[in-house]
Amino acid sequence: MLFLASKYKYIGPEEHRLLVADDNVGTKVKGFGDVLTWIKETDQHPDHNTGIVATYVILKNRFMYIADRHSEHVACAQGQDVLSAGEITFSIEKGKVEVTEVTNLSTGYCPAPASWKAVDKALKKAKLAHPKKFTCNFEFRLCLKCETINVIKDDWYVCAVCEQDLDKKWNIN
Ligand SMILES: [Zn+2]
Repeated sequence: MLFLASKYKYIGPEEHRLLVADDNVGTKVKGFGDVLTWIKETDQHPDHNTGIVATYVILKNRFMYIADRHSEHVACAQGQDVLSAGEITFSIEKGKVEVTEVTNLSTGYCPAPASWKAVDKALKKAKLAHPKKFTCNFEFRLCLKCETINVIKDDWYVCAVCEQDLDKKWNIN
């Protein structure tokens, strides 16, 4: 069945997008070996409790790209649109890579929770064991009055800056 994924554009300033578009920080994840190589090359240190947290994006070629967790999603995506973006946690045991957590937390792209499909497909393609859904779902809303992007917590649809009521539906891009 054909799967039509939504695309998300970077919502920050265009000058910034162009500035980071040439930063080659994203590593394409075709399989677990790419994750292990990335860990080594970027000198990531696994924490036994939390694993290794990385920034990820799914590009329109349906592959996942990862970068150091302090990297911006837009840099990891080389300024491109994404099918999803967020944070991913890998646990490494005896050379075996597993995904223990994935979220859609990206205030640069604000992907909807429904973008999980693209994440699921990319992880299946890379043959990485992973959760059945986002381990933490974030909802983002644009305040139409002051243009602040709000991360919704506890079903509270009120702008944190100007207290305007926020749309119940996803309204970004
Ligand atoms: Zn507001």
